[in-house]
Amino acid sequence: MDYQKILENIAIETESLQEKGKVANYIPELSKINPNHFGISLRFLNGELFQVGDSNVKFSIQSIAKVFSLSMAIGLFGESIFQRVGVEPSGTAFNSLLQLDYEEGIPRNPFINAGALVIVDILLSELRHPKQELLEYIRKLTGNKYINFNDTVAVSEKSEGYHNAAMANLLKSHGNLHNDVEEVLDSYFHLCSIEMSCNELSKAFLVYANHGRLPKTNEQILTKSQAKRLNALMQTCGFYDESGEFSFTVGLPGKSGVGGGIVAVHPEKFSISVWSPALNKKGNSLRGMKALELFTTKSDLSVF
Ligand code: GLN
Repeated sequence: MDYQKILENIAIETESLQEKGKVANYIPELSKINPNHFGISLRFLNGELFQVGDSNVKFSIQSIAKVFSLSMAIGLFGESIFQRVGVEPSGTAFNSLLQLDYEEGIPRNPFINAGALVIVDILLSELRHPKQELLEYIRKLTGNKYINFNDTVAVSEKSEGYHNAAMANLLKSHGNLHNDVEEVLDSYFHLCSIEMSCNELSKAFLVYANHGRLPKTNEQILTKSQAKRLNALMQTCGFYDESGEFSFTVGLPGKSGVGGGIVAVHPEKFSISVWSPALNKKGNSLRGMKALELFTTKSDLSVF
C-alpha cells in the first residue's frame, strides 16, 4: 500500500476544513497560532515513517500530555490510582464542573481535566522533582532530550485559568487533592504546555502500540496489562464527549489536545499523529479528526 500517497491525498481532500474550525482562544497564547498549519506523521513498528506537511513543527500538545502523566502514574503505582479516578467515559466537556461535584470529587476518568489534576496530584505526592521527572519520562519515550515546557504558554493558561482553579478547589473540598492547589495547577499547566512535533509524538506513542515496550531499547515501560488499560482508556475517553464519535469514525485508541493535535495507535502496528489547530465545538481538531477517519478508511487499518 502506498501510504505516502494516501497521506498526500488526505492533505488535499481535507484542506477546506480548517476554515470551519476555531483556534482555542481561552488560552491567550494559543489564540496566536496560525490555523493553516497541517502535518501528519505515520510511524510503523518496523521503523517505516511517512509524513506530510508541518510534521516537524512543534506545537502545544495540551491534553495529549495527560497520556504521559497517566502512563507514568500507572507504571509507578499500578492499579491503586484507580481508587481516586474512574475509568468511565464522562459524556461531558473536558472541563465540566457539574459532574465532578455530583460524583463527590471522583473524576470519571484520567483524561478529563479533573482526572488529570488528580493524576498530577498523585505524582506530586510521590516524586521529588515531579515536573522534571515527567519531562525526563517523555524525553525517554521520544528519544529526544530537547522536549520541553513552554513557560509562556503555561503562564498564559494560568493567567486565565479560573475554571481549572475552580475544579482543583472542588477536588480539594471533596478531599481528592492532597497537595496545595496552586502547586497542582502549576504542574498541570506546565504539563499541558509541553511542545512536540507530529514526528515526535508518533515516536513517543509507539510504546503504546508495542504492549508497553520501547521499540528501540526493548525496555518494558508498562506491563502488557497496563498498556492494555491505557489504550482502553484512550479508546473510551480520549476525546471527551466525542469519544464515541472518534471510535465510530476512526476506530483507533487516541488522544486529542486543544492545541489541535491528535495521536492514535494501532496495537502491534503503528502510531499516527495529526496537527491542525482549528478545533470543532467539542475542542478536538476538526481537520485532524477527518484526516484520521480518511486514513483508517483508505488503508483498512482500524482495530475494528
Ligand atoms: N490545558 C487545557 C485545559 O486545561 C487542556 C485541555 C485540552 O487540551 N482539552 O483546559
